[in-house]
Amino acid sequence: MIPRYGASRADVDQLLVGEPRYRAEQVWRGLYTELCDPANMSAVPKALRSRLDVELVPSLSAISEFSSDKGSTIKFLWELDGGGRIETVLMLYPERATVCVSTQAGCAMACGFCATGQAGFTRHLTPGEIVEQVVRAAQRAKAMGRRVSNVVYMGMGEPLANEEPVWQSLLRIHDDIGISARHLTVSTVGIVPGIKRLAARPLPVSLAVSLHAANDELRDSLVPVNRRYPLDVLMEACGEYLEAKGRRLSFEWALIADVNDRPSDAIELAGLCRRFRVPAHVNLIPLNPTPGYSVRGSAKSRVYAFADQLIELGVNATVRRNRGTDIAAACGQLAAGQPVKLGPKSLGGAYED
Ligand code: SAH
Repeated sequence: MIPRYGASRADVDQLLVGEPRYRAEQVWRGLYTELCDPANMSAVPKALRSRLDVELVPSLSAISEFSSDKGSTIKFLWELDGGGRIETVLMLYPERATVCVSTQAGCAMACGFCATGQAGFTRHLTPGEIVEQVVRAAQRAKAMGRRVSNVVYMGMGEPLANEEPVWQSLLRIHDDIGISARHLTVSTVGIVPGIKRLAARPLPVSLAVSLHAANDELRDSLVPVNRRYPLDVLMEACGEYLEAKGRRLSFEWALIADVNDRPSDAIELAGLCRRFRVPAHVNLIPLNPTPGYSVRGSAKSRVYAFADQLIELGVNATVRRNRGTDIAAACGQLAAGQPVKLGPKSLGGAYED
């Protein structure tokens, strides 16, 4: 038995030895273009369908599904082999449909304001487990007459701490599901060697860096990995990425009241963005509530004032529309039901879209 979306084309060829030569292509297209389970591949003879359904085993078992924003945000909770749990989020917008995938069960980066970080690390995901999240979400989208156009590696885990499987999954999603590199975004907490290696790989995927602070003192406290890869070396790696790919970078910035939402923070951040030949784009995320972090998100008026200040300083900034806070599907809220180390009771995100 082989994982359904971990099987290589050679594995599928091997399974189909003795069958007509076009069969492998039919099955491959069934899996990646038609997003079909083998049991439903109507062009394939029935006995073979049943055999493939058993031999190519799914890696994710559905535990539950939550929906919000009038059905346009759907969170999937999956159980993995061995019992770990992960979440995937499908977001339907009028002009695009985005899947947010997890790359690890849990996360070892320990950012205090993130629910995944609060829960700790369980294990890395395999390429098949990452790809299958996209396929399962895309099947759900297809049932609603929609096609997945974008994939963001912004779910549970740190993609660049699970580099090779993440890369294998990107190739599969790009080559076989057919999503273009600019519609694939890898988000990182700032693992410098991983950024450099991604820069050297052949696909020009979009890179997002979770910055949250523009000086080392504050970033050390918010994002612990900053002590290992401080801002200077991180910005240098970002510059290399930009030069290698010619693609504008994005910085994610979760706005935390009185911590990183002051006018002086905007000035520092704008300074970093403008170091690049093409200034980095800023994605402002009003801090979402998580059980283990008691500091509030910035008030809505502060969020927009911060965005306006960045724009005045010549930096492109957008406020990320909050999706799925009511089903804990928003940025930083994915924990797959894992208990978190509880801090003082959260005061909540204090932000409504
Ligand atoms: N580990 C990667 C991928 C996760 S992306 C990374 O850090 O980039 C998830 C994004 O949500 C990151 O930008 C993360 O910093 C942000 N985030 C974490 N907790 C959050 C919270 N409580 N509110 C808003 N954004 C949060």
